[in-house]
Amino acid sequence: MLDSYRHKGMRRKLAASIKEKGISDEKVISAIEKIPRHFFLDSSFTEIAYQDKPFPIGLGQTISQPYTVAFQTELLEVKKDDKVLEIGTGSGYQACVLYEMGAKVFSIERHRPLFQKAKHLLEQMGYFPKFFYGDGYKGLPAYAPFDKILVTAGAPEIPDALLQQLKTGGILVIPLGSGANQVMTRIRKLSDSDFEKKEYGNFRFVPLIGKKA
Ligand code: SAH
Repeated sequence: MLDSYRHKGMRRKLAASIKEKGISDEKVISAIEKIPRHFFLDSSFTEIAYQDKPFPIGLGQTISQPYTVAFQTELLEVKKDDKVLEIGTGSGYQACVLYEMGAKVFSIERHRPLFQKAKHLLEQMGYFPKFFYGDGYKGLPAYAPFDKILVTAGAPEIPDALLQQLKTGGILVIPLGSGANQVMTRIRKLSDSDFEKKEYGNFRFVPLIGKKA
């Protein structure tokens, strides 16, 4: 895994362009500037890895566009030592960003080869989120509650288990909708039965796959 000056240069430009697009959380920007995104992609993508675009990672899945990663992460208001649950590990890039920001990261993936690949890659890079192979719809009851929960696939509805596993005062960020586009939604848990919901525009994600799929 080679991280050259050229890659670092391309990464600085990417980080600057994301800032220009309106992301103001400096910790997000510096994580994007630091993490070699080309490590998460097949070697045929090395030259284009720092374009602000999603790319295929196999099994019909994608690594999210860096702007989308930054947007979701900013909405999460990540603080050092926050316990963050991610649904949809994919390449492991988003988990790496959260870890770099000082979060305690738990990430679930339902495709075993992606789970294995991400876990192995991050270990090699010296990042140690806790990775799980399983169904994110159920969350991770054994490790709950979480300060923050981030869903990185399009969800037709908010999984009840995730609301339950969120701490009071915690934040869930989830792209909602079953069509081609989803509405980025932030839920703040005010009490066991009170939730505040805000919407942040349209995004495009691969679908969250249910138990029966
Ligand atoms: N966060 C990823 C991109 C995620 S793409 C990254 O940084 O690269 C969405 C991922 O969600 C895919 O890898 C897909 O396999 C996974 N996924 C879909 N449904 C899921 C479910 N029910 N539980 C866990 N993971 C799921």
